[in-house]
Amino acid sequence: MFKAAIIGGGASGLACAVELVNTVKNKDDVSVCVLEKLPRVGKKLLVTGNGRCNLTNLNTGLSAYRGDREFAETALSHFPPESNIKFFNAMGLYTRADEEGRVYPLSNQASSVLDALRFECARLGVHTICDYRAVHIKTADSASGQKIIINNRERFDAAVIACGGKAAKVHGTDGDSYDLLKMAGHRVIPPVPALVSLNCENFTKALKGVRSVCKVKLIIDGGQVYENYGEVQFTDYGLSGIPIMQLSRFVSVSPSNDIYVALDTAPDFDSAQIRKYLARRREADRGLCENMLGGIMHKQLCIELMKECSIAVNSRVNELSDCDLERLAATIKNWKIKIKNARGFDFAQVTAGGADCSQFDSATMESKLVKNLYCCGEAMNIDGDCGGYNLQWAFSSGRAAGRAIGERINNAENK
Ligand SMILES: Cc1cc2nc3c(=O)[nH]c(=O)nc-3n(C[C@H](O)[C@H](O)[C@H](O)COP(=O)(O)OP(=O)(O)OC[C@H]3O[C@@H](n4cnc5c(N)ncnc54)[C@H](O)[C@@H]3O)c2cc1C
Repeated sequence: MFKAAIIGGGASGLACAVELVNTVKNKDDVSVCVLEKLPRVGKKLLVTGNGRCNLTNLNTGLSAYRGDREFAETALSHFPPESNIKFFNAMGLYTRADEEGRVYPLSNQASSVLDALRFECARLGVHTICDYRAVHIKTADSASGQKIIINNRERFDAAVIACGGKAAKVHGTDGDSYDLLKMAGHRVIPPVPALVSLNCENFTKALKGVRSVCKVKLIIDGGQVYENYGEVQFTDYGLSGIPIMQLSRFVSVSPSNDIYVALDTAPDFDSAQIRKYLARRREADRGLCENMLGGIMHKQLCIELMKECSIAVNSRVNELSDCDLERLAATIKNWKIKIKNARGFDFAQVTAGGADCSQFDSATMESKLVKNLYCCGEAMNIDGDCGGYNLQWAFSSGRAAGRAIGERINNAENK
């Protein structure tokens, strides 16, 4: 009997197990076990999408991915969002997409996605072994081909490294994938936190809790690296919210200290319109400057922008000079905030970096260096934007590995 081990019972590992057994024609020919470090599988899945699990995105395209996205193309095209949705439909789980293409379970509960995978694994006879941490991996030759030996004990005909990245270690992921990969002779691109908030230098705490829709630019060494739009969340340490998290991986990988985020705090108006607006306010408003922008933004944001331009918030709007108005207009459209760093792995949703994809086959996920060893999910050097793209990659790459192992078993039987 062909024995396969999947190291890691997360999104990619569970999808891999289901796809593998479903692919094998004669189910008696295979024994699949999922080895999970934590007492239960899929702990991270439960917190995805704020507890709703944004399991894929209908608009999945390579532009939503970073790292080695060309490598990702094969698995993403073999197992696109529609295929992953059908994969879940077959387990009885139905989904709904929002206007941005983000797909959630109809139940709006992440637990139903995990349950679908868990129950399907149980139905298919997958052995789930929890509280099992794989810390060692090696190969051994045998008459029936190369075996993968885990923890110097268990011998398998194939093994899949599906133990995720380093983000959010409270959910079981503290970088074991990389140790196992290196042990097997693989290169690992240094992992860094991605989809994470940013610490800012000397940032005001007064904005804590304020949210504002902004155009966001990331500027490193004077050059624009990334542009985005969406709701920025101000915190006591700096900046958060989806547009900030999306650009955080570029901050993580940059060695520079010259990093700024420039916020356009009034993206609905162009610069000329803002200048006109300010001039009109000066004509009509005899009140305090702290209230001057109340018609277009949060009052606290107005106060901070005034301070940034050295305008006293208790001065009168009608007493502002042309020069004050010009400075204020420029700051409203381009408030440059100095970034200290990206927050750490504990706060990150995903990892950028990981297994060097060039050492793997993009269709099967099998190692080009170690026969019968596979890798999938976040452990690889691929990270996606917010919006379901990371789970899409986890499910697609896990299924690609599972399908490839299953087909090998079928082919061996036909010989
Ligand atoms: C708060 C949060 C919200 C998120 N929301 C979304 C979202 O809505 N949509 C989206 O697309 N992505 C989301 N993500 C990202 C997504 O969850 C991950 O990219 C995805 O789960 C990665 O799948 P994986 O199988 O590679 O790894 P994981 O799902 O992290 O699973 C790895 C598993 O391996 C186990 N393991 C680790 N080391 C070992 C070992 N040595 N031996 C045995 N087992 C081991 C771990 O305990 C874990 O169960 C979110 C992430 C976080 C932290």
